[in-house]
Amino acid sequence: MPGKKFEVQAINDEILEKFSLKNRYNFLNNNLMSILSPNEFNFLKEVQRFCMRFEKKNEITHGPDEDIYDWVPAFGEQGYITRQHNFEMCDVNYEHWGLAPDFMRNLALDMFDPQFAMGGGATVLAINPVYEHHEHVPIRLEALKDLITGKSPGAILITEPERGSDAVHQLTTCTEQSDGSFLLNGTKIYNTNAPKSKWVVSYATAEQNNGNMMAQFLVNTNWEGFKVERVNIPWVPKLFLGKETFTNMRVPKEYILGSVGKGREHLFEGLVPERISIAIMGMSECWGALAHAVIYANLRKQFDQEILKFQGVGFLLSDLWAQTTNVTIGLLKFCEAYDEKFEKFQGNIPNNIKQAMVASASQFKYHAAKLSRKVCYESANLMGGAGLCDNTLMHDYLNISRIQEIVGGSRQIQQYIMSLSLRTLYKMSVS
Ligand SMILES: Cc1cc2nc3c(=O)[nH]c(=O)nc-3n(C[C@H](O)[C@H](O)[C@H](O)COP(=O)(O)OP(=O)(O)OC[C@H]3O[C@@H](n4cnc5c(N)ncnc54)[C@H](O)[C@@H]3O)c2cc1C
Repeated sequence: MPGKKFEVQAINDEILEKFSLKNRYNFLNNNLMSILSPNEFNFLKEVQRFCMRFEKKNEITHGPDEDIYDWVPAFGEQGYITRQHNFEMCDVNYEHWGLAPDFMRNLALDMFDPQFAMGGGATVLAINPVYEHHEHVPIRLEALKDLITGKSPGAILITEPERGSDAVHQLTTCTEQSDGSFLLNGTKIYNTNAPKSKWVVSYATAEQNNGNMMAQFLVNTNWEGFKVERVNIPWVPKLFLGKETFTNMRVPKEYILGSVGKGREHLFEGLVPERISIAIMGMSECWGALAHAVIYANLRKQFDQEILKFQGVGFLLSDLWAQTTNVTIGLLKFCEAYDEKFEKFQGNIPNNIKQAMVASASQFKYHAAKLSRKVCYESANLMGGAGLCDNTLMHDYLNISRIQEIVGGSRQIQQYIMSLSLRTLYKMSVS
């Protein structure tokens, strides 16, 4: 692939050249042009043009030495960190915004570099609660602007060493002081971007193991009492995840996004866009891996034939392609419906609709994560040694696709949520 840095070239020049970002984008666009609206398609192509220019201008190789965090400011300046909102309160007014445009943004970024796209997704998890609860407090607006314009990555601190799936029974405490500030004590872990972030959003509780006493805080990582160490996740070696220790870290009043008693509600309100974003990431990975495998299978010859022509290859690729296309269309429909409702109810989607969306978000997160693992593995498998060596982004896809089922609530937790929804639906339906 032009620009790709590798130890030893394993794939021939002709095929490597055909893996260009331009060709992979073309494959995606030819698949999606009939289902995207003109606005969606134009925005997708706009972000793609930026990524292609950026890759070329900066001679990005996607090799192991590059720091993906170096690219954040440039993407932030273009408004490509998130398009879930238009952020007019920060004097930023995007033309294309909502979940569907954000799907387009992520498709383009993920094909450019999947680990970079995932890091951006984690920043969005810090952006959303500040967006929801800035209340026009200047320091919160400053943090929000820093995050959306790429001045700093962001991180969300929910998980603790002893509390993962059980996120509402936290051990990190917050103790109110006479001046209204809080002291935080405890440890968080696996927080994507935290070692690189100036701003993070953290949960803590006024009483350990009591979900009703949770609060939510905006934190400046330069404060005294905040310590961060890097946790290495070998499947995403370019991402910096943190283990953070709070030792009597003081959070001034104006940084409290949700007071004691509000934390749990704030945690849940962000779950639909968070899970949909992970589903979007999963589907973007499917397209990235498929683009490689389809190009390869059309060029690679064995037994004097393009391998696509052997049923074992062509039929498996068709199966992966059909599933990827279908889930993409379903997810896009959900995003469009969400955006319509967001506009209709001016951001205050009624609770009964929100409730139904929680189940859909779990369904998509569950399905897309599972599909990504399968499509990325099988696509690499269809490329033989070429899918496993370091000459292309395929090994990034293979590795990153294996963590999608854990982030944002594991497979079993999504199944648990869905089974509870089936109980509710039964009660609503059967008299
Ligand atoms: C790459 C990566 C990025 C991450 N980014 C962030 C981040 O930015 N911010 C953040 O706060 N966290 C983040 N996390 C943490 C992630 O959300 C947790 O790892 C996840 O919620 C699972 O928690 P755990 O690791 O403690 O596993 P556990 O909760 O201990 O789960 C272990 C196993 O038990 C199963 N299990 C647990 N409870 C049940 C149950 N009730 N029923 C059935 N099965 C169950 C789980 O499905 C899993 O298979 C990240 C993790 C990774 C790996």
